[in-house]
Amino acid sequence: MSSAASVRAAGRPIGLMGGTFDPVHNGHLRAAIEACEAMALDHVRLIPLCVPYHRGEPLASAPMRAAMLEAAARPPLVVDRCELERGGVSYTVDTLEQLRARWPERSLVLLIGLDAYHGLPRWHRAADVLSLAHIVVVARPDIDTVHDPALDELVANAQAAHLDELHDTCAGRVFFLDIPLLPIASSELRARRAAGRVIRHLVPESVDDLIIEHSLYFP
Ligand code: ATP
Ligand code: MG
Repeated sequence: MSSAASVRAAGRPIGLMGGTFDPVHNGHLRAAIEACEAMALDHVRLIPLCVPYHRGEPLASAPMRAAMLEAAARPPLVVDRCELERGGVSYTVDTLEQLRARWPERSLVLLIGLDAYHGLPRWHRAADVLSLAHIVVVARPDIDTVHDPALDELVANAQAAHLDELHDTCAGRVFFLDIPLLPIASSELRARRAAGRVIRHLVPESVDDLIIEHSLYFP
């Protein structure tokens, strides 16, 4: 494991939530804010990917997905456009290397839903991801996941028993965080819009305004 996992952390951890955000919704915002408060994070960076590695092209353009995030995010949530600025396929490991160079002695906490966690063995340079950041998993009870035995191998001996471990060291631990969540998914919102249904109760009004103004996700 690289050096970050053994470096003693200075300052409060920084949370990171990467995603397609096609579009951002109240489920993302609730998870990010609840995690920020429960873990006493300094702030949470919302990082829209440019071109996905593991799924089809988003329906909304990258600038539009970022604009919706900007409309939704208020401190302690911050939009980080680093993956859009790099362009091309977005690999989390590249983003973590960039953030680690900027904050060599900060604990970096990657927040992911259980669905994303189960896909971890298929991420590009998955072992390096864990050497650059901690991983905090939130439940998403509404989403089905398939367990991959390769995951056990990847995270063997990495489970943190207590949150303090994520404050004391910079990277390398996995923690399951129990926080209240909202059962909302972007795919559900895109389907609702395609069917001409309302989504204004599931996203910030500023995001719904942009979606309507630009006729997004509408057939
Ligand atoms: P889609 O349905 O298109 O996959 P999504 O709602 O899952 O969209 P993503 O952009 O894929 O959103 O997710 C980004 C990150 O946010 C992932 O780690 C995902 O697990 C997490 N996430 C998404 N929705 C929620 C939610 N309602 N509660 C907690 N975490 C969520
Ligand atoms: Mg998803």
